[in-house]
Order: sequence, then C-alpha cells, then structure tokens
Amino acid sequence: MGPEDHLAPYAARSDAGRGRRHPEAGHASRSQFQRDRDRIIHSSAFRRLEYKTQVFLNHEGDMFRTRLTHSLEVAQIGRSIARNLRLNEDLVEALALAHDLGHTPFGHVGQDVLNECMQDHGGFEHNLQSLRVVDHLEQHYGAFDGLNLMFDTREGILKHCSLANARALGPVAQRFIDRTQPTLEAQLTNLADEIAYNSHDIDDGLRSGLISIAQLEEVDFFARRWREVQAAYPGLSGRRAIYETLRRLITVLADDLINCSSALLAEAAPADVEAVRAGAPLIRFSDPMRKDATELKRFLRANLYRHYQVNRMRVKASRIVRELYQAFMAEPALLPPDYQDGSGEAGKQARKIADYIAGMTDRYAIREHRRIFSLEEL
Ligand code: MG
Repeated sequence: MGPEDHLAPYAARSDAGRGRRHPEAGHASRSQFQRDRDRIIHSSAFRRLEYKTQVFLNHEGDMFRTRLTHSLEVAQIGRSIARNLRLNEDLVEALALAHDLGHTPFGHVGQDVLNECMQDHGGFEHNLQSLRVVDHLEQHYGAFDGLNLMFDTREGILKHCSLANARALGPVAQRFIDRTQPTLEAQLTNLADEIAYNSHDIDDGLRSGLISIAQLEEVDFFARRWREVQAAYPGLSGRRAIYETLRRLITVLADDLINCSSALLAEAAPADVEAVRAGAPLIRFSDPMRKDATELKRFLRANLYRHYQVNRMRVKASRIVRELYQAFMAEPALLPPDYQDGSGEAGKQARKIADYIAGMTDRYAIREHRRIFSLEEL
C-alpha cells in the first residue's frame, strides 16, 4: 500500500497536482509531499524560526513559544485533523512547517515597518516572503535556486495576496484572480494555525503575568473549560489547571473543525481536488464555535497584544527595523556583499535589504543594530 492510498478522493495527491517547476524523478520511499516537508525542515530559514518570536521577544524567557515551536504545534494539530478527514497529512505538515518561514524578526511589527519602508518598492508581505524563501532564497541545489517544492505546497504557503501581486506571480497565485479555493489541506492548515496561537498565546500570556485567570473568566469560551476543570479536580490551581484547561480548549476547537468539515464534505462530496478548487470553502468551524473563537481573539488583542509592556517591545522593535532599513538604503556598502545590489536601481537594492532584514532572527537584528549604530561596539 502506497503512502497516499488511504486518502479521500478530495485529498491532494502527489501524482495529481501540477508538480514541480523543475521536473524531478519520483522517490521510491517518500511521497512528493513528504519530500517537500523534508526540504523545509532542512532549510536554513526553518532553523532560524527558533530565534524568531510572535508576541514575546526571544530573550524574555526560555518558556515562551518561538516561531519554531509554534510551527510544530500547528503541524501536530493540523495532522490530527487531517487524519480524521482522510486528507493528505504530509502536505498539511509541509504547509504548517513552512507557513512562517518569511516572517521578519519581532513578529508582525517587523512586517508592518518593512512594508512601510518598502512602499515605493512593491511593499513587504510575510506570506509572499515565505514563498520567496522556498522559491528563490534558499540555496541548496546545483540546478536551481529555492527548494523546488510542489505546486500545491507553494500555493498553500501563499495564504493572502493582493491582485497586483497575484498578476505578477503567475499560476501559483491564479486562485486570487479566479476567486477559487486552495486545497483542503491549505484551508485546514490556516485554521490549525489559529487553534495553535489562540491557545498558546493564552498560556504565554498567563506565564508572563500580562493577563490573569480572573480576566480570562470574562471570556465565556475559556470560562466554560475552566469550570469543567474545577469540577473534575476541585481546588486544582497553577500550571496544572492551566494545562488542563488549554488542552480541553484545543480539543473542543479541533473536534468542532472535524465535525463541521466532515458534514460539509459529505454534503458537497467533491469528486477530486479540481472540484474542491471550484467550490466553496469546506474546512471551517461551526457558527457557534466561530463566534467563541472570535471572542477569544478579541480578548487577546485588547489585553495581551496591546498590553503596554508589549507595546514597549513593539516600539523598540519597529525602531530597530526602520533604522536598519534606512541605514542600508543610505549606505549599501554597509551590507554583506551578497546583499549589495550594485545595479544602481533603488527597487532592486531595497528588495535585497528586505530579504536581509526579514531573514534576521530577533537577536541578530538587535546585534546588527548595535554594530551599526553603537560607537562602543564594532
Ligand atoms: Mg502561524
């Protein structure tokens, strides 16, 4: 039995997609999507996820999530759900592990600042950058730049895209022009991402002391799980009570996604991936669960992501990214040789600077800023 024989008819398959940009022979012991996953794990951008953060800075504590552990949690949640729906687990795993490869240091603020800086040069968007990493920036092969991933993997990495960018990117972004769907595996990975960060941001928020259980009890969705734990283990407190609550929360979200999507798939019964592409999104939460998840997201935005201590980090981080960009644009000779464009075209130089900055880890960006602006350090 082959690695994809058990899949539902609407799952993505190695032999049914549009393949690789540079044709390669098949592999005896791995499916094409297993090979994609392996290429992603062996990439240097993947290793750097260990030192990139989302909410908290890397050096703020060893217990907080990094983009690496976040990506592993997305892969774990995504694969469990994919197996239940008989979707292609290997594609889900590849997408989960690749979905944050293009992120700048310091989470979303890094992207926002780089995008502002790049306004006259095509802007900056982390999804596009993730695709750029796997298509161009990784240099592992003699015959081509990038990792030469499967079409379905590349398309799934590109979660959002403006129409102008879609026209420039060609087939991989055609769905944004046609307004069609990506594979079910891509739809699923997006939601596994949401399940992962909603639950682990609560955990990290509590651990940091920026939010409290008392505050979270105002969120009905959390409060119901918290009460279940208190009923099962009266008087349980501290980390154990938090873990018990969060694992219930993940289970409730994942089970809802499986049940709601199973029903939609049974009803629509898409014959193959082409039918999936032409139809409506089929991987989704039920309406009540969507409402609960939205309430939780709203709570985290108001109380954690906009907490004044997080704001302080955000302002410092934005200054680092902006000042690095401005210094490199003014003096490209400060850049390592690979990133000096030399063509005299500002747009080309700006893109190389964006690639350089986006590739930095949090601590590398802090150090690079110090090396360039501090007189005490060389
Ligand atoms: Mg993510």
